[in-house]
Amino acid sequence: DYDYKKKDPALWSAIADEGARQQHTIELIASENIVSNAVRAAQGSVLTNKYAEGYPGKRYYGGTQYVDVVETLAIDRAKQLFGAEYANVQPHSGSQANQAAYAAFLKPGDTILGMDLSAGGHLTHGSKVNFSGKMYHSASYGLNPETELLDYAAILTVAKEVQPQMIVAGASAYSQVIDWQAFRAIADEVGAYLMVDMAHIAGLVATGLHPSPVGIADVVTTTTHKTLRGPRGGMILSQEKYAKKLNSAVFPGTQGGPLEQVIAGKAAAFFEDLQPQFVEYQEQILENARAMADVFNNGQNVRVVSGGTANHLMTLDITDTGLTGKQAQDLLDDVFITVNKEAIPNETRSPFQTSGIRIGTPAVTTRGFLAADCQLVAKLIVDLLNAPEDELVKERVARSVRELTDQHPIDVD
Ligand code: PLP
Repeated sequence: DYDYKKKDPALWSAIADEGARQQHTIELIASENIVSNAVRAAQGSVLTNKYAEGYPGKRYYGGTQYVDVVETLAIDRAKQLFGAEYANVQPHSGSQANQAAYAAFLKPGDTILGMDLSAGGHLTHGSKVNFSGKMYHSASYGLNPETELLDYAAILTVAKEVQPQMIVAGASAYSQVIDWQAFRAIADEVGAYLMVDMAHIAGLVATGLHPSPVGIADVVTTTTHKTLRGPRGGMILSQEKYAKKLNSAVFPGTQGGPLEQVIAGKAAAFFEDLQPQFVEYQEQILENARAMADVFNNGQNVRVVSGGTANHLMTLDITDTGLTGKQAQDLLDDVFITVNKEAIPNETRSPFQTSGIRIGTPAVTTRGFLAADCQLVAKLIVDLLNAPEDELVKERVARSVRELTDQHPIDVD
């Protein structure tokens, strides 16, 4: 309906199609969420026009008096949200937050010890295909093969062996509580810095529903777009004593001009995150995840890795259905349920196939799904994974998905 949309229909129809896809799809990708109109408005604001290399009060460009206000709001709200002494809201992404955190504390060739990608770690925790495994010498820890939990004694053994300069705690697919003090003790025993990447669970941490690593780790990184429900971006929290080296690692170390429109989106999201309703939202995320895990654990041929979930996500081992994670992802795509394939502990298939799928509740919870809705979704998933060829089952599941998405329109304010 706007002139620019008429002039460039190829672009704007694709954007409209994506809006409709989001409306009619049950989004279970654990790292996604649906932001408020305030966050979107901030990101589409005039701030996108402004260069502001440097930090509030110390910029390399003129005309920065208002972006200074915006960035200071984002910093102050981040510090309040997490009880942190220091916050840097400039990293363009979670990966860039991690890049800058490493750059602040390490030299190329130093050793980092992080969670293995196939056990649920992130690429930037030392994977050989990522800068973190190319620029640094990287070693990894996994899960206990029996309990499928972090095994702190085993991590200490690896740490003693590889003598890392930095230990990285945090994960992209771990459904249990992480013991930051145990990691701190391991880091202290081998004389390493401790970095926590809390990207996935930051919303739970902000609301006290997962223990906070702030004040325990030397540096904490996060994305702002997962459970925090802000714009796509990154952030670093730490202590005042590390402020100088972290600031210079972000700019000029690894980035140029900050994205002030995204920083405004972060400020808008943190404002929302500080409201009492955000605690209720995070509690509902947990309740919904537990409700799904219960159905899965009683479901045919599927099981939740580690036995259940204490956070917003879970990995489902679907080996016994005979499907690969990739096949399950495609099958669910056909009925408008979005998940991603995920490696399971002791995975035998390639990362392109896998034997699991990862499921998370932040996005459906934002659109108002309650535990009963999530139980129904979990039942639909189990039914479909056990009857992949049955067109009648497929039609029934797709119909239920349509009913659920119609009952819960994406309507954020
Ligand atoms: N850290 C963790 C634990 C993640 O799960 C992710 C993304 O999924 C990232 C970092 C990277 O974030 P980004 O995609 O913004 O680079």
